[in-house]
Amino acid sequence: MVMIEIIEKKRDGGELSSAQIDWFVEAYSAGEVPDYQAAALLMAIYIRGMNRRETIDLTLAMARSGDELDLHDIVPFVVDKHSSGGVGDKTTLVVQPAVSACGVPVGKMSGRGLGSSGGTLDKMESFPGWTSDLTIDQFKRQLSDIGLVLAGQTARLAPADGKIYALRDVTGTIGNSSLIASSIMSKKLAGGADAIVLDVKAGNGAFMTSVEDARDLARIMVDIGQEAGRKTLALVVDMNQPLGHAIGNALEVKEAINTLNGNGPADFWAHCLDVAGYMLLLAEEADTLEQAKEKVTAMRDSGRALARFRDMVVYQGGDADLVDNPDGFRLPNVVKPVLAGRSGYIAGINAGAIAWSSICLGAGRKVKGDSINHSVGLEVPIKVGDHVDGGDLIGMIYAEDEDAFDSTRKDLLASITWSDSPTDRLIHLHDTIS
Ligand code: URA
Repeated sequence: MVMIEIIEKKRDGGELSSAQIDWFVEAYSAGEVPDYQAAALLMAIYIRGMNRRETIDLTLAMARSGDELDLHDIVPFVVDKHSSGGVGDKTTLVVQPAVSACGVPVGKMSGRGLGSSGGTLDKMESFPGWTSDLTIDQFKRQLSDIGLVLAGQTARLAPADGKIYALRDVTGTIGNSSLIASSIMSKKLAGGADAIVLDVKAGNGAFMTSVEDARDLARIMVDIGQEAGRKTLALVVDMNQPLGHAIGNALEVKEAINTLNGNGPADFWAHCLDVAGYMLLLAEEADTLEQAKEKVTAMRDSGRALARFRDMVVYQGGDADLVDNPDGFRLPNVVKPVLAGRSGYIAGINAGAIAWSSICLGAGRKVKGDSINHSVGLEVPIKVGDHVDGGDLIGMIYAEDEDAFDSTRKDLLASITWSDSPTDRLIHLHDTIS
């Protein structure tokens, strides 16, 4: 096949055949198609879209690009979760150990930062020595030994997603439902999960800004999961303000550890309870959502969820002292507060703008292969609906120099909209699709 023909067909609004999709995924994974041609095809898909059949073909081809795990010789039932990408979204770090501590093994393949959205692997690499680069044998052994694994795509597991994801990150081709669905679901299918909870975000800090687009994305992913014989459920969740307070790699890890210690932001813990609760329901470890949430809360309160997180950090080579003492993560050179210049009610927070600002600080990549600064970022302790007095703390900025601090401060102030009269709090959970 000729790559140019495939690009032109999609550019002109045509429908790619299953054979063309399979060929592209195989050839790009094998290094036979250069990045510039793959980027052109991704942009054509982004603009022209893919129908349901093309999306399913793309997902299955990506899932087949490496090994597909069957974990049933190790554990009877594996549950997994995945977020479509948000700001301050460190949910995996809390939910995964909490569910595992409830007795349900969690074997997860995560990703790196994508556009404005942070990536679980980048966050976890704030632990010196921690690695997500596991062989299949290592993945299985860890799942069997501690019931918890957090792996990345490898040359063996969904390698096509690893390559396409890194290219989408830097070519403006992220926010397309077929590309997001195939990326997420190929990892979930290759990773061997029996049940999957999808955390689909909608809002100014998400790739899908409208709830309707997020619902469509949720529906296609649930369809793909169910066609592949996996129990799949999607939550459509608001992302019109950062989740929790912390944005930036080590800051988010620290907030996740605090949450596992019972001291996390209320909105973040409530979200973790929803996701973990549905994971336990799909695993048939609870009869009702309320009962599932009680189990998860008990695991947090007993310290068993944090202990499971610690086990995972140690097993994957990380420095576990930082789990016991999260204040030990390196701080950047400039750590300074931002205070409110006025009194009033918070009417809006542009989470996407704050996320881009954290990328400019160095917390994410602007071009493929950029290195990440794990120490920088922001904490934004305000929520839409809060009343704030002039002089109150509305942010902490963690930057490497004063210029970076100044421009982030400007970005943060510009991202907040004020009102003189009371404003409503945001609805968090818009829908549940199964
Ligand atoms: N998470 C993924 O793994 N892929 C996407 O495209 C978006 C979020």
